[in-house]
Amino acid sequence: MMINNSQSSPNLRSIAVIGSGLAGLTSALLLQEQGHQVTVFEKSRGPGGRLAAKRVDGGSADIGAQYFTIRNPAFYQFLDEHAGTDAYAPWQGRFGYQTAPGQWEPFPDETRYVGVPRMTAITRALSAKTDMVAQTRIARLESDENKTWVLVSTEDERFGPFDAVIVTAPPAQAQDLLADSKLVDLAAELDEPVRHVQPCWSVAVHFSRPPFESYEGMRVKSDLLSWVGNNSSKPGRDDAGQWWVLHASSDWSRANVDRPAEQVAGDMIREFQSVTGSRQEPDNVVTHRWLYAKSSDTDTPGHRWFADQRIGLAGDWLSGGRVEGAFNSASGLVDAMGNISG
Ligand code: FAD
Repeated sequence: MMINNSQSSPNLRSIAVIGSGLAGLTSALLLQEQGHQVTVFEKSRGPGGRLAAKRVDGGSADIGAQYFTIRNPAFYQFLDEHAGTDAYAPWQGRFGYQTAPGQWEPFPDETRYVGVPRMTAITRALSAKTDMVAQTRIARLESDENKTWVLVSTEDERFGPFDAVIVTAPPAQAQDLLADSKLVDLAAELDEPVRHVQPCWSVAVHFSRPPFESYEGMRVKSDLLSWVGNNSSKPGRDDAGQWWVLHASSDWSRANVDRPAEQVAGDMIREFQSVTGSRQEPDNVVTHRWLYAKSSDTDTPGHRWFADQRIGLAGDWLSGGRVEGAFNSASGLVDAMGNISG
């Protein structure tokens, strides 16, 4: 069992954060700034969540979020201070959307940012400043007579005690965790958000020669694909040839969620060739299925803080469903928690 000494100082509190995506790392770092002792738990090998990159021949490809926007000045400030200005940069590409077969229109100008040299550079830099326990899936929370929480992993390891817990898992995973912690009322509040989360098939494909040269990132008008982007055109990538990332639409991903990855990739590549007019065949293909990719919920409260139980919920799905939403949700939660040391 991990022991902490928070009881020795009445002004310092010990807080557990479940999930090391942007929401988890943002809440961890902002709480650390307030003097709290924070431990982050992550079920995967490394940090990042859906700010994800997969190793591919010769480099890596961003198979989750493709880019992000920054409208909240506090998000710039946070990234510069905690991830560092080298960890992200604008993607100076041409971006467009399809209006009809073979016809494309440019998107209005907006700065689109990416991690450098891969999306995970941001969360890797942020996580280096936290105390993170990786490869540990938290199965449930147990409370004791001191109203503190002990976290129990799927391997039956026990961590704590913690004065507060922040859960940043996507809604279905957060709901399971709360239900298995006998927090049935809190779990029931996630019924609606769970229904709004959509899966996404993502395929990275390598071409020895450029398959399409008019745009670097395109929203596609197709029942099958939603987005295609030239990953190799992002800053800091140094690929021979070009890696492209294709995302299937939510509806098609849901309808094909249990099909073998090879068949799914084959259909997506054929659709890519059809929408771009390229006849090139890729020489390398890497496929990833996201079960909980994006939330279509528009009624998002920002975050949830259950003061009586000292449990907080943060994540993109509570704040518009994008990378910047994950930051806004976590920073809003930390503000709402206020002075929990009192
Ligand atoms: P996550 O990144 O999902 O983090 C949650 C973390 O919790 C994960 O690391 C998970 O492993 C961990 N976890 C879950 N359960 C447990 C448990 N029980 N114990 C321990 N750890 C646990 N956004 C944009 O802004 N622009 C885009 O172009 C864009 N494109 C996207 C394309 C795809 C295919 C996908 C999947 C997402 C895209 N997004 C995009 C959305 C963006 O990636 C997310 O909004 C953002 O990364 C969510 O961050 P988060 O911290 O809320 O959640």
